[in-house]
Amino acid sequence: MSDSLEESHDPWLLTPGPLTTSKTVKEAMLHDFGSRDERFISINHHVRTRLVEIIDGKDSHVCVPLQGSGTFVVEAMLSNFVPESGKVLILINGAYGVRMKTICDYHKRPVETLVWNEDQPVDPRLVASKLSEDASITHVAVVHCETTTGILNPIKDIAEVVKEAKRALLIDSMSAFGALEVSAKLIPFDALVASSNKCLEGSPGMGFCLADKSALLKTEGNADSLCFDLFEQWKGLEANGQWRFTPPTHCILAFHQALAEFDEEGGVQGRGGRYRANCDLLVKGMRELGFETLLPDNLQAPIIITFKMPSDSAFDFQTFYDGLSARGYVIYPGKLTVAESFRMGCIGRLNQQHMQGALDAVTEVMRQMGVDSGSPD
Ligand SMILES: *Cc1c(COP(=O)(O)O)cnc(C)c1O
Repeated sequence: MSDSLEESHDPWLLTPGPLTTSKTVKEAMLHDFGSRDERFISINHHVRTRLVEIIDGKDSHVCVPLQGSGTFVVEAMLSNFVPESGKVLILINGAYGVRMKTICDYHKRPVETLVWNEDQPVDPRLVASKLSEDASITHVAVVHCETTTGILNPIKDIAEVVKEAKRALLIDSMSAFGALEVSAKLIPFDALVASSNKCLEGSPGMGFCLADKSALLKTEGNADSLCFDLFEQWKGLEANGQWRFTPPTHCILAFHQALAEFDEEGGVQGRGGRYRANCDLLVKGMRELGFETLLPDNLQAPIIITFKMPSDSAFDFQTFYDGLSARGYVIYPGKLTVAESFRMGCIGRLNQQHMQGALDAVTEVMRQMGVDSGSPD
């Protein structure tokens, strides 16, 4: 990795997004392209093709990009793939599962839910029995890595159960895609969504849907919104290589560069390997300082880690946050209902040096606060 700690004065983002990007990704944005420019159209084509290759879906899947943050494309996926006459079973073990339910309520899509505690993974056996009980369920929607806690859901096992029951699977892989393997050949799904700025390390500004082509073709007329009509977006791109409305040109240029750097790093294996090493170093160092993770190691995705709030009365989260921030490290508050917590991400253009830097900063700030241990007990 070319970026040294000294190269930039921007804060290091140990968050679930927006994330730290490389200098070269930022530099790729220093161009103005018209939406009809042939170079731009060819870059779009390359980006879409490459994303389909990442899931090994060349013969079966297509890529439909969409302007906006990640939630925009989650909304587009649900409102396109679940018809008004359908019913979607949403598997919830965190805030992003809850958000999918909210989206379906806005779009008046019939919904069933199965809910687990935030520190519990989705259980495929309960999904199977729900599907056999309720014949009216047409789709199942699941979050791959629930960024609320950083928990990994067993999407392969869930996909098997859904396929066995002859229903369609919709996956929000926003915070996992690019770092954890997803092969369309091993994990059958109708649609999977992710964005430019999480593990693929582009700039924020666009999401994309990787859709089984035959399933996408059947969504014609399902959309209840002009902007979120994925079928029309795809048709437009197929017809002339252009987006229907102003494309996020700079974001796509950055994303194109980010994908080149993803390939240079060795694709999913390289990227996921770096994040795993980041995660291991961070967790080990934090445990040495007394902190406890919410999740046991076997449920923890190498994306973002939830730490329980220390019990020492001298510990004050705002002071902790501000102290780390002043030293250049931005962390994230918790989003839990089960326990007081905070989160530290290990994705984006960060390596072991950055993780060690963050640990050193944590050590210093604790000393300043007069906190001996990060233990929650
Ligand atoms: C980041 C994220 C999203 C999208 O969030 P935006 O803030 O809209 O980009 C959706 N689902 C998951 C699991 C995420 O981590």
